[in-house]
Formats: sequence, structure tokens, C-alpha cells
Amino acid sequence: MAKQEDVFKTIIAHAKEYGFVFQSSEIYDGLSAVYDYGQNGVELKNNIKRYWWESMTMLHDNIVGIDSAIFMHPTIWKASGHVDAFNDPLIDNRDSKKRYRADVLIEDEIAKFDEKINKEVAKAAKRFGESFDETMFRQTNPRVLEHQKKRDELHTRFAEAMNANDLNELKQIILDYEIVDPISGTRNWTDVRQFNLMFKTEMGSTADGAMDVYLRPETAQGIFVNYLNVQKTGRMKIPFGIAQIGKAFRNEIVARQFIFRMREFEQMEMQFFVRPGEEMTYFEYWRNWRMKWHKALGLGDHKYRFHDHEKLAHYANAATDIEFEMPFGFKEVEGIHSRTDFDLSQHEKFSGKKIQYFDPELNKNYTPYVIETSIGVDRMFLSVFCSCYEDQDLGNGDRRVVLHFPPAIAPVKCAVLPLVKKDGLPDKAREIQHRLRFDFTCQVDEKDSIGKRYRRQDAIGTPFCITVDHQTLEDNTVTLRHRDSMEQERVSVDDLEKILSEKVSLNGLLKKLL
Ligand code: ATP
Repeated sequence: MAKQEDVFKTIIAHAKEYGFVFQSSEIYDGLSAVYDYGQNGVELKNNIKRYWWESMTMLHDNIVGIDSAIFMHPTIWKASGHVDAFNDPLIDNRDSKKRYRADVLIEDEIAKFDEKINKEVAKAAKRFGESFDETMFRQTNPRVLEHQKKRDELHTRFAEAMNANDLNELKQIILDYEIVDPISGTRNWTDVRQFNLMFKTEMGSTADGAMDVYLRPETAQGIFVNYLNVQKTGRMKIPFGIAQIGKAFRNEIVARQFIFRMREFEQMEMQFFVRPGEEMTYFEYWRNWRMKWHKALGLGDHKYRFHDHEKLAHYANAATDIEFEMPFGFKEVEGIHSRTDFDLSQHEKFSGKKIQYFDPELNKNYTPYVIETSIGVDRMFLSVFCSCYEDQDLGNGDRRVVLHFPPAIAPVKCAVLPLVKKDGLPDKAREIQHRLRFDFTCQVDEKDSIGKRYRRQDAIGTPFCITVDHQTLEDNTVTLRHRDSMEQERVSVDDLEKILSEKVSLNGLLKKLL
């Protein structure tokens, strides 16, 4: 585990050193769980957003996009349930003065039982070798059964407390299981309190006339309240979807793991409106289609898994997460939810406006059901960044750090490198850059030795380096270096656009989805 933590720290340091992600307000010692994207980070992030946006709006006839405001009428958050129920249970330790989520402390305790079981299994597997029957061992080994029993008892007690919103019971569990603060090591806990995750501010110029408004904690409500506008003006027929990318804000109690859990982050959400009764068909469709979108990037199919929810929100009738294997374990990157007609019905009730669809085929009115796909841009960024990072041993004591980004989303697609800074090579390099810059993000780098320049481009994940040498001036050819294999080939300058666009265009990636 310690090793994985070190790897993660190294990746975070790399993200900063190469202009991907900076701590917000760093010269003022930073602002917790808020981050800025640097010159390379913003390109990668924009490419991820473009991949999502174009896959939704260009590959589907019946999905359109919107961009709604961050501020919305406060009653929207009453209707959606966020004012009353968008809470996390928090607990403080009086000695360390640190704040924790009570549910996360208990979940970590449950995970400890799982770890103990896995250790027993690993030990036995080593002892018995090839003849080891893991299923049988798990079902019969007394120590495993004992741990499993304790785990299940705790899990049941925890699930009941969460479902009943019983904060006293959550505290009692923490006391009964003697859970200590990881920093102070003590059990000096306060009571558990509910904490609403929405940021509140005031709108209006005078204190009297000011109205409390919230920074939106999700982008989805902006879609629901525009459902009628889009359906009518776009003459949309059910089934159809509305997509949106935008900032969301949550006052997370514990912000950990770099850009995994932020207080200001970005979401890409799509609400798909369907006939009541047909929601499970579309839920399955979107569940599979979203997984295909992820896997098309080629980061490794084994790094993804579904996690179906056992406990559903009161308005949902199916929900699953797509989890990705981060350096700190499998974690949610995207949620796919079947939300019934809950949101539209609530807005109908609270606004007093009729929000219905007249279905000409059925000749009747109804409130559409909704399937939602909701993915965090920053978590997606993190999964791409972590899985593409490699500290590679090249033999003979030589190493390089390389980011194996899928070429279509790499921040810089190619770098043109004049071998020396004289003899007209830099001018030729600029001329090549000028031909390529209309289609590709393309840099010219002429400082330092060619080897150092290759390493710099590897470290930001540039798929191709184009080296201009003396032969270039004679026959208009260059060497094209491939980032992953480090192989070089001699190609004509006139062929560069064609070769590059085949390898790095977003179209190629999008075509995999059809
Ligand atoms: P979690 O359980 O991790 O808090 P959630 O289930 O509350 O997440 P949703 O409300 O389903 O998350 O939000 C949809 C997506 O938005 C998540 O899958 C995640 O990618 C992203 N997201 C949610 N909260 C954050 C956050 N604090 N920082 C970064 N991304 C987030």
C-alpha cells in the first residue's frame, strides 16, 4: 500500500512540474480541495470534454446540448431535495481538531475486515500452490468465516443506521468498534451532525433585498428546468437527450486524493427522456454505451468495472457506477441512474407549470422518465493521467518518464525539433509548424540537446516528434519519432498532415463508438 501511495505522490508532483495541475492560490499557501489547470492540463481537459461532447451530440441524432447558468432560483434546490437531504454525516476529533465523514470512518473499518480476509486467502494460496481452491477456502476456513461474520454484522448495522438517518447510532458504532482518529490516535469524538454540502451566497445589492442563492451542486437541474424550452423550440420527440458540461460546487467535508474530490469541479451530464415503462431498456443501453466510450480510449479494459447500487435513492429505480482502478483502488468515475419522473414531477409541483409531453403515437400526455449519465471531468482527467504515467527503465541505467496518452486527447500532438540552432534548420522547423498548426497543437522546441528535448516531450505525452536535420533541406524529409516505441522513421514533409491526422484525430476515436 505504501508503495502505491508513493507512486501517487510522484504522479501529483509530475502533474505540477509539467504544467498540468496546480494547487489553487498556491502563493497564498493554497485553498483546500481547489485546483487550477496549467498550460498542458487545460489542453488535456478540453480534449476529454470534446470527446464526450461530440460523442453525445454529433453521434446521436436525438441529443442536443445546453449551457445553463450556475446560479438558479433557490426553489429549484428545494424541489430537487438538495436543501433538505444533500447532507453528509460529520464528526470531529477533539484532540486532532480534524473533521471526518462518519460514514467513511465506518466504511474504512469494514474494509479492514476485507483486508484481513484477503490476507488469509493470499497466505493459503501461497501455501497450497496450484491445488488451491479459493472458493472452497472462503466457504470453509474458520478464520475467514469469523472475519466475514463480523464484517457482515458491522455492514448491516451501518446500512440500517444510514437508511434511518440515525446519527446517534453512527456515533455508537464508531465507539463500539473503537475507531480511532488516524492522526491523534484517540477516541475523543464529538457527536455526529448532518452537514449540507451546498455553498450558499447572496444575490442582490442591499442586505434587505438580498436573496439566498446556491452554487449548483450538480449540473443536472439546469437541464430539468430547461426541459420544456428545449423540447418545444427543438421540436424534440421522445426519446431524446440534453447534454451539458459545467462547473459544480460541493462543500466536501473531507477533501482527499488530489483532484478526485474537489470543492469546485466540472461535470458532464446527459439526461435522456423516455416513455414511462421503457426506462430499463434505455438504462441498459446507456450503461453499455458509456462503458464502450471509456474502453475506446485504450487505457486497459481490466481497469474498469461496474458497481451496481444495492441501496437506491428514493427516486431511482436502477443505478450503477463505472469504477476505474486508481492508484488508491477502484473508484467511481461516472454514475448512470434511472431517475424515474421524480425531478420533472417535483419541478411541476413547485413551479406550478405543467411539464408534460404529448406523445402523438400513444395519443396521450405523460411526464417523461429520465436516464442520467453523470461523469466528473476531473476524475476522468485523473484516471487518464494516472494510468498513462510510466517511469520507464530503458536499460543501461537510463530512464524516462512518459505519459502514454491516447493520441487523440494528448495536449500537444507534435513537436518540431531542429537538430541544431543554425544552418537554416530553425526556419525550416517554423515553416513545418506553420503548415501543421491549423490542424494540430504543434510546438517548436530548439533549446538543449535533442535527447533532452525528446524526454521533455515524453514527459508531457506528445505522441510525435518531428526532427529537422540537414537532409531535410536537401530532400524535404524529416524523422518522425513515435513516443511509445521511440522508433524513428524518415518521412516526407508533404505526408506529415496525412500521417498525423490518421493517428491523432478525434474522429478516429469517435468512429470506434459506432
Ligand atoms: P461520491 O460518492 O464520490 O461523493 P457522488 O456519488 O456523490 O460521488 P454524483 O453525485 O453521482 O457523485 O456525481 C456524478 C459524478 O461527479 C461522479 O461520478 C464524479 O465523477 C463527479 N464528482 C462528484 N463529486 C465530486 C467531487 N467532489 N470532486 C470531483 N468530482 C466529483
